[in-house]
Amino acid sequence: MRSSSTNRESGLIVQIPAFFHYNGDSVDFPGISMDVSQRVEARLRAANVKPTRQRIEIGAVLLAGPCHLSADQISARLRESGSSVSKATVYNTLKLFSRSGIIRAVALDPSRLVYDSTIEPHHHFFNADTGELTDIDPAEFDIGSLPELPAGTRAESIELIVRLRNK
Ligand SMILES: [Zn+2]
Repeated sequence: MRSSSTNRESGLIVQIPAFFHYNGDSVDFPGISMDVSQRVEARLRAANVKPTRQRIEIGAVLLAGPCHLSADQISARLRESGSSVSKATVYNTLKLFSRSGIIRAVALDPSRLVYDSTIEPHHHFFNADTGELTDIDPAEFDIGSLPELPAGTRAESIELIVRLRNK
């Protein structure tokens, strides 16, 4: 396994996350707390995604708390925190993260994806006037019965988007 678990087995208390050994960088993630970067690293490793510095920076934006962000919003937040991760890297990393089950991509329309830090299936309100996507408390939403499914299929999950307009 990784150096951190080897060290733990030998009885050492390891406080430096393994990715610092990996790229040889000093401890310097602008705008990211140590706690968040460690959690992100653990989540990437659990999904078999190599935790590079850029991936941890992008992951830290999304995984610091429940959120729904577009690729452009993530890029903007990274720029604000002094990161130099390119837009192309952000797009590619988000694709990798959603393929790996680290985040979920929610398609609001064919040209618009929002990335969701909550990976369990759940429902959303989408306000088309403000662009805001928010989670719906499952306890407040009774779906009722499903229509008959096409032959040879099973329902894997149900995720609804309730589209809103301001009055
Ligand atoms: Zn959500």
